[in-house]
Formats: sequence, C-alpha cells, structure tokens
Amino acid sequence: MERRTVVRCAEGHVFSTSTFPMRNLGVGRLGPGRLIRCPQCGRLRSSVPADLGALSEGQLAQASRSA
Ligand SMILES: [Zn+2]
Repeated sequence: MERRTVVRCAEGHVFSTSTFPMRNLGVGRLGPGRLIRCPQCGRLRSSVPADLGALSEGQLAQASRSA
C-alpha cells in the first residue's frame, strides 16, 4: 500500500502525493517546500506538508481523491 503525503501548494490547493521526499526535508536547505506538480494548478508549485489537524473533512476528501 502506497504511503501518501498530504501537501498544500502555494496557491492553497490541497492534494496528496507519493513523491514528497520527507526524509530529505532538511531545515533551510531549499526552503520549507518542494516543487511538486499540483494537479489543480497543472504546474509545479512550491508545496509544503499540510497540517492535517487544520484541514476540513472536505479538504481531506479532496486530497485523497486527487491522487
Ligand atoms: Zn495548486
């Protein structure tokens, strides 16, 4: 089963990705986010891990569908 990370792009879109390199998320190296292709922007966006506790159920549902 694939482990996914829920992330939020710079435009505020929430989606899940299996490619977020959590282990390499060093502090301050390349900034707080990673460039990930946002399915809603349709282009690479600086994205950061979403705070799951701050997301609504709707946002979480949307994120899980956007894989
Ligand atoms: Zn986006």
